[in-house]
Amino acid sequence: NRQYHLAKRPTGEPDHDTFELVEAEVPEPGPNEVLVKTLYLSVDPYMRGRMRDAESYAEPWDVGDPMRAGVVGEVVESNHADFDAGDVVVGNLLWAEYAAVDGGELTAVDPDVAPVSTALGVVGMPGRTAYFGLLDVAGPKPGDTVVVSGAAGAVGSVVGQLAREAGCRVVGFAGSDTKTEWLTQDLGFDAAINYKTVDDLGDALAEAAPNGVDVYFDNVGGEITDTVFGQLNVDARVAVCGQISQYNATDLPTGPRKLGTLIEKRASVEGFLVADFAPRFEEATSRLARWVDDGTLQYRETVTEGFENAPEAFLGLFEGENVGKQLVKVAER
Ligand code: NDP
Repeated sequence: NRQYHLAKRPTGEPDHDTFELVEAEVPEPGPNEVLVKTLYLSVDPYMRGRMRDAESYAEPWDVGDPMRAGVVGEVVESNHADFDAGDVVVGNLLWAEYAAVDGGELTAVDPDVAPVSTALGVVGMPGRTAYFGLLDVAGPKPGDTVVVSGAAGAVGSVVGQLAREAGCRVVGFAGSDTKTEWLTQDLGFDAAINYKTVDDLGDALAEAAPNGVDVYFDNVGGEITDTVFGQLNVDARVAVCGQISQYNATDLPTGPRKLGTLIEKRASVEGFLVADFAPRFEEATSRLARWVDDGTLQYRETVTEGFENAPEAFLGLFEGENVGKQLVKVAER
């Protein structure tokens, strides 16, 4: 039963020395516990925050501790009334091949509804983040121009499609031509900007959003966010979902540079956490699953094969290696 533990806290960018591969026993499930074999492991940007020794919404990991992740797995043995061997479940387990966990912490996944891996992506936590962040926090109206950064990622790709369905003009920022082509050709974005190759971010946005920006769904922060703030419309809404461009920073820049625009434009900026919407998870999950099933929502997954390659997959998030949801495939069903 291979596991990854936090070997040391990274300064700046994490690397392979951040992780320690440990051999552990396959645990015996206790009363009410379920032994789960990991099929897919999710690597997520917020895990960078858990490597830091600082108060945040997710508890920091201690050095030497096993790391935790979203896992889709198969029940091997169950002492919990709700689960039987062979069931597919999703939960917050360990970066491990096997884990024993209280059945109350697991949710059943119906393999007939959608491929089970989607319970970590479009129909899982990232999909729900897009759903609540866009529809509840930002509140798009038909005719609005919606801009999303990190647009070809797990969250961003769903945000753009939901905005399209809401009757908005949708503009995405992403880091490669493969990604921008996917957004415009397959996902129905009206425009997409490769922020790594474009000459001038502001000019490109002005061209892509000629009527200004009514809603900004921010996954990345930094330069892109400054650019969008400069082109907000009156009464614009900004939903701050993530700031991945800052997660490895050792020295944060002094102050956002474009807050003056918020005064002039009477714009509002709101940070949110998907976890706060937990009472409505079922609503989001069932709608997302239906939209995947009827073709409204398309999705991509970048699947890294092999448990041992989980650190590589995690590190790739900061290089933009993933199109859509980054997963690690650990075992077959
Ligand atoms: P993604 O699938 O979007 O993967 C991360 C992507 O971020 C990369 O593919 C890369 O794409 C982009 N990126 C990496 N570094 C930079 C950079 N310096 N500047 C600009 N873009 C960068 O991840 P998720 O969809 O899982 O998460 C997206 C964001 O949402 C993250 O910030 C995450 O922390 C946040 N989040 C927040 C939640 C909440 O409750 N508030 C819940 C879930 C996620 P590219 O090639 O375009 O650069």
